[in-house]
Amino acid sequence: MQTTGILEERKSSILLKNRKGSRAPITCDRASVAGAVSQRACVYCGARVVLNPITDAFHIVHGPIGCASYTWDIRGSLTSGSTLFRNSFSTDLREKDIVFGGAEKLKAAIDEIMEKYAPKLIFVYATCIVGVIGDDVEAVCRQAEKTYHNRVIPVKAPGFSGTKSQGYKLACNAILQLLAPHENQPKQNGINILGDFNLAGEIWIIQNYFREIGVPVISTMTGDANYETLIRAPSARLNLVQCAGSSLYLAQRMEEKMEIPFLKVSFFGIEDTTNSLLQAAKALGDKETTARAEAFTKEQSAKVRAAIAPYCEKLRGKRAAIYVGGGFKAISLIRQFREMGVETVVVGTQTGKPEDYETIQSLVNPGTVILDDTNPAELEAFIRKTHADLLVGGVKERPLAYKLGIAFCDHNHERKHALAGYEGVVNFAQEINLSVNSPVWQAVSSRTI
Ligand code: SF4
Repeated sequence: MQTTGILEERKSSILLKNRKGSRAPITCDRASVAGAVSQRACVYCGARVVLNPITDAFHIVHGPIGCASYTWDIRGSLTSGSTLFRNSFSTDLREKDIVFGGAEKLKAAIDEIMEKYAPKLIFVYATCIVGVIGDDVEAVCRQAEKTYHNRVIPVKAPGFSGTKSQGYKLACNAILQLLAPHENQPKQNGINILGDFNLAGEIWIIQNYFREIGVPVISTMTGDANYETLIRAPSARLNLVQCAGSSLYLAQRMEEKMEIPFLKVSFFGIEDTTNSLLQAAKALGDKETTARAEAFTKEQSAKVRAAIAPYCEKLRGKRAAIYVGGGFKAISLIRQFREMGVETVVVGTQTGKPEDYETIQSLVNPGTVILDDTNPAELEAFIRKTHADLLVGGVKERPLAYKLGIAFCDHNHERKHALAGYEGVVNFAQEINLSVNSPVWQAVSSRTI
């Protein structure tokens, strides 16, 4: 495939599934190429993605006010309890603080919050400028914990210090720090769900399924989580990891420290939702639970297949481009599209790992373009070349799809409707059909692909 206009350093992160179907390596899980206009967010944003859904935590952003603009509004996790997490608190560092240090301002911010609200849990994010001036954020947090006897956990996440994946890891370490005093609890029958952030209430859908098959959910990380549910997490018998990109590290450490085995799952699409429920039931080793899961998934799958059949009829033969954050979602979307008769012709992720790209290559047809950490210019070129009818991505990809005159589906954190579980399959098929088969595309003259 011609790659004119693509930076030389980017070429090894772009792959064409070859005609023979053999696998090839792809450069991934690295720092972005300078000047390539990566769509990734910064380290701090990666940490905030994972921790922000904890509903009763205070999130203090120690840095300039601009960093604090990354807040609930652009993530959309729902809550069944506290709404504290919808606020953003910032030390609003100014020039004087940069010159003389911002630690006193941070201390004052914690004191003020403790006096007014006395929360059990505060996260303090150190952003870029704090990484430069070197405030001792850990010392301030340690002292606050001693003074107030609550948890004040530092997240040293200067945006420039790595990739968004580094931010995920820092957030996982912050959760491990929170769990540390509670590690040695006796085990009870139940699971934790990791890597689901309760967008549009998705974790409630998944919790309902487990209720149906008789499996208690002890803690959710971090969608609709709170301090009390989180500290019970070490008592679970099994961890399920949905977004492996953000939470696999947490699951691995919990296995080491708390002897909780884990399973990688996905609740996107009929095939993946069914397999995940069955695997979880089997892993708990109880025949009755497994039988209930088999009956439940069989009934739900049949119901949902019937519900989406009219949409699939209208979508058969369409071509999709996918660009999402993590590998697990890209993999589920390829399977979901296959079930709907839609061919994936371009697929990429921001933070996929080598094993994710192995699986992606095994699922797609020869000729499919596979991209890691791509940018709008590359996406545009490959969408044009492959004649995709639709782009699935996040808010940053939406304008590109519309400028190209093709349909778009938001599968990122800004959306307001559930796409997970069996309910999500129907929502997804409806949305794709409405968008792809909208008469508007016939009137868009810029569609020259
Ligand atoms: S890159 Fe730095 S300054 Fe920008 S939002 Fe991230 S932490 Fe803040």
